[in-house]
Amino acid sequence: MNYANQFDSIVFFTGAGISAESNVPTYRGKGGIWEKYDWQSLACQRAFDQNPERVLEFHEFRRSLVYNCKPNPAHNTISQLEQTKAVFVVTQNIDGLHQKAGSGNVVELHGSLWRLRCDYCGRQIEDLNRKYRSKKCACGQWLRPAITWFEDSLESGVFAQAHSLIESCDLFISIGTSGSVWPAAGLPQIAFDGKAHCIELNLEKTEYSPMYNETYFGLAGTILPSLFQFK
Ligand code: NAD
Repeated sequence: MNYANQFDSIVFFTGAGISAESNVPTYRGKGGIWEKYDWQSLACQRAFDQNPERVLEFHEFRRSLVYNCKPNPAHNTISQLEQTKAVFVVTQNIDGLHQKAGSGNVVELHGSLWRLRCDYCGRQIEDLNRKYRSKKCACGQWLRPAITWFEDSLESGVFAQAHSLIESCDLFISIGTSGSVWPAAGLPQIAFDGKAHCIELNLEKTEYSPMYNETYFGLAGTILPSLFQFK
């Protein structure tokens, strides 16, 4: 099957599984960071308000875990496809690997490890270094990692953008997500309700598999390139 020529507008909805072959550490389950570290003192707004330096240091450590990770053939297939048609990525990942692969149209539902924001003056700062260039804003306040922490809500503008892209696509491909983190997990339903052909790619069956028109089980880095052949 070659999907490259059959659809005009494609949304890839990605989760941690697409980055597994790039060796990005998982968050939950065995060996995941939340088994070792306490999110309540390191990854929520209350923790940041109480001790911004400690939270920033922890996020510098999280950046160091991902800093040397490289996009894999699944990320690369998506960015290559973007050169020939309307391709959008709606990702739950914060690792920046879609952009590293060259994708330009990326909606980051949960923010990015590589961005900081100042909640006082509103500045957004991109910082791709392993260590933060600065932990303080030019206005003098602490910068906050621009990621969705535990107990945070998703940015409404970002969610609305994802909603509208998914509503209007004609091919929707979910890759490497268990569908257990809400409200992101509700987004595929928009594709099921619309005109899109829906494909799921995962290592194993998920609770949502029966809703898809087609399912592929296996490694994203092997299966995705086989679905899109470029001339
Ligand atoms: P998840 O960990 O709940 O599920 C990952 C899914 O990917 C599983 O269903 C698994 O079977 C599948 N998978 C694993 N390896 C795969 C591979 N090589 N090919 C295809 N599928 C594979 O992840 P989730 O649904 O994204 O939810 C986790 C939450 O944690 C998200 O909110 C995300 O923001 C965050 N997270 C992000 C990263 C990252 O930025 N890379 C990593 C871990 C977790």
